[in-house]
Amino acid sequence: MIYINNKYLDTAGTPASLTTPHNLTKLARLMIKFNTNSTIVDADIPNYKSDEILTRLKAYSIGKFQLDAADQAKCYYCESYGAHVASFQVEHFRPKKSVNAQDTNGVAVRGYPWLSIDWHNLLLSCPACNSTGAKGTRFPIAGVRAVTPHCNLTLEQHMLINPEIEDPATYITFNDLGQMRGIGNGNACKGNVSIGVYTLNRDALVVNRLKIWKDLSSEICEAVYASEKGWFGFLKLSTLYTLVIKKIIKTQNNEQQYALWGRYINENIEQLVGSLIIKKKYKSKFLRLYKRYAQLNN
Ligand SMILES: [Zn+2]
Repeated sequence: MIYINNKYLDTAGTPASLTTPHNLTKLARLMIKFNTNSTIVDADIPNYKSDEILTRLKAYSIGKFQLDAADQAKCYYCESYGAHVASFQVEHFRPKKSVNAQDTNGVAVRGYPWLSIDWHNLLLSCPACNSTGAKGTRFPIAGVRAVTPHCNLTLEQHMLINPEIEDPATYITFNDLGQMRGIGNGNACKGNVSIGVYTLNRDALVVNRLKIWKDLSSEICEAVYASEKGWFGFLKLSTLYTLVIKKIIKTQNNEQQYALWGRYINENIEQLVGSLIIKKKYKSKFLRLYKRYAQLNN
């Protein structure tokens, strides 16, 4: 999960498809049902998943405002590309119809239907992160629940990280095995709740994240092995190191899958390379080159 505030910076504003007369009429009818405690069904919800909305969210997911044909969008939560996770879903950060009883002390809470077509409540999720058993209709809070449109949402103190309004890096870090964990003192709890609810340590994600570092570290070790065997000199080693260093630096870019993990790799490169079983002279040479390229990249 990375910070994605493009929606707030996008001068295009709210997508027109959200505020069509038909949608606004439907929202008014929905709120009559809500206010009279009538049962709300899926058919009552205005349209929040047009191509326009999906395309805009996909662009934001990789730090852009407009999506190009070759772009691969990412899940806002787990940062998996679409190819890995089937089709994306437009997801309500605050659930539109009901809140999971796990987060309400068992009291029935009818969700936030007034936010069902609120542009700032719509995020992009893969089916795994948004499934029942993951985010689904979960919305844990530490403060006072907003139960009508007149309630102050800021009093809720939501315990799930919203990557559009707060930097997940404040709350989440990793260990060297690619597993996420909450960070800091006050922030650790929000980080851990988010990791748990979004299921960000599910096996497939940890395996995918770790594979990124494993592939890169294999390249480092293979270059060192060949150099140690005398197959080529230090100059060629520098060339091979440079190639892998460029790949390492790239892992943290917004459009990359698991960019937050890529940032961890880069911030902890000394420790990660230190754990590889290679001689000190090879590590020192690598880290010197890394620092040079990292500075060039800044
Ligand atoms: Zn996901």
